[in-house]
This record gives sequence, C-alpha cells and structure tokens, in this order.
Amino acid sequence: MSPQKWIIRDLLAVTTDYLRKKDIDSPRLCAELLLAHQLKTTRIKLYLDFDQPLNERDINEYRSLIQRRLRREPVQYITGVQEFWSMEFSVGPQVLIPRPETEILVEETLSILKGKINVCETTKASVLDVGTGSGAIAISVAKELPEADVWGCDVSADALEIAMSNARRYGLENRVRFIESDLFSSFDDSQLFDAIVSNPPYIPAEDYGALPPEVGQYEPRTALDGGEQGLFFINKLILEAKAFLKPGGRLLMEMAPFQTAKTMDLIAQTGFYTEQKIIKDYSHKERVVVARKP
Ligand code: GLN
Repeated sequence: MSPQKWIIRDLLAVTTDYLRKKDIDSPRLCAELLLAHQLKTTRIKLYLDFDQPLNERDINEYRSLIQRRLRREPVQYITGVQEFWSMEFSVGPQVLIPRPETEILVEETLSILKGKINVCETTKASVLDVGTGSGAIAISVAKELPEADVWGCDVSADALEIAMSNARRYGLENRVRFIESDLFSSFDDSQLFDAIVSNPPYIPAEDYGALPPEVGQYEPRTALDGGEQGLFFINKLILEAKAFLKPGGRLLMEMAPFQTAKTMDLIAQTGFYTEQKIIKDYSHKERVVVARKP
C-alpha cells in the first residue's frame, strides 16, 4: 500500500499489532491516543472518521511518535497531557504524571476541608500540597472548594511553571498560591494549615533500577526516589508538618501499600499526633495515611 492510501482504520490496526509485538502496554489505546494527538482530534472522532484517508505528513509524524513510544517514553509525555480528577493536566518530563490512585488523596482532603468550612465559616479552610508537581492535587481541591485557601509548593521551579500553567488553564491561577520550597523551607509558622497533603517521592532507592523504563528513565527522579525504604520524605513530613498545622489539622500522605504499617509506627513514635488511620485506594490497596494534630 502506498502511504497516501492509508485510512485511519488500517493504520490503527497495523500500528496496534506492531506495538503489541514490541511488548508495549495497552497497544490499541496507545495507537489511538497518539493518532488522535497527531490529527489534533479525539479518540471518538477517529472512529467516526474510520475511512478517512491520511496525508503523508501525518503518517510520517505519527510514525515518529510511535518510535518515541517504542523507546518507552510514556504516552503522556508525547501527547503532553494526562487526565486527573476529570481535568486535563499538562505534563512534561519536569513533573510526575498524575496517577489515578492519587484521586483518593484529593477525596480525603476534600472531606476534611468540607468539615472545616461548615464548622467555622469565618476563617477560611486552608490546605498546602507539598511537592505539588503538575499541581494536580492543589488544583483539584481549589476547583472543588471555592471557599478554601489553597497553596502548593515544590522544590522544582520547572515543575511550578507547569503547575501554574495548569491552574491558568482552568481559571484557577488566583486560587492557588504556588511557592518554590524544599518541603517547608519557604514557610514560617505564621501560616498554619487545616490540611497538609503530599504525594511525596516514595519509591525505595534500592528498587529504582527495577522500575519500568517508562518510569525510571523518563519521569523525574526527584519526584520518585524516596531514599532508603522510600521513607525519607514520609519521615520528614511526619516530623516537620506538625509545626505548620492548626490544632486539629491533618497530615495526609500517599505511599506504597507496603509502607503504611511502618509509617503508622513512625507517626506513633513522634507523639505529635492523636488520631491516625490508613485509607485504601479504589483498587483496595492501602494508599494513604492520615494523622491528626491534637
Ligand atoms: N505511584 C508512583 C509509582 O509507583 C510513585 C509516586 C511517588 O513516588 N510519589 O510509580
């Protein structure tokens, strides 16, 4: 077949086959997402235009997108977007790609802050997202709670640029204050929060080499590497967050299921918090630990 004769249906079928043979996960989805991206359209539209012939330029450019995917670059860095909390977030190699399991962290944060808004309407409920990356958590909370005071911080200025562009995309740029800060280094205790939420780097350094290439070779190591047992930042958050929480405020941290028990011990050992609990994600895996300051 000459390149000019390709129609969407055939190109997707052949590409899917090829990706499958090269062991790429979800080959059909990948073929569709990248073709929709190349044609500046949606996956649904591809099906409506199944018999549409493609021009040579689109085919060539699509081929180079497929080549990038074969080098294990994540689809989201090729298309530049990832959906989270029903919004589309810009992503790039400066930031971790938001994961669906992190939505449970947003949900739990919302339920805590909603309680605060109802109880005490005179002071604004406030939340800080530590290590905000693409801004996914902070922006989702700001969207859901127009009354809340939302902050996001990150050690990476490049990540914050992406976070701010994501906030602008949803008209929330005046709702989230993004600050460059290594954990709490740019904060002082004149600013206290009802909730401090974080999806910190929690991959054990010793497991880093075994990560899939999509993660280990493409996503930012500063957003993933949690040091020994992956607990370095979790432990720092437990020790440092207390000084930035209002009385009754909560610390919420995402982690891997195998880290929750140890985290509960670390929290108990500090004596800084009264209540603490583990929350499961939508796949029934222990994913979030919440601790309450007295
Ligand atoms: N959920 C990510 C992964 O398992 C890790 C995210 C993180 O370290 N915060 O790939």
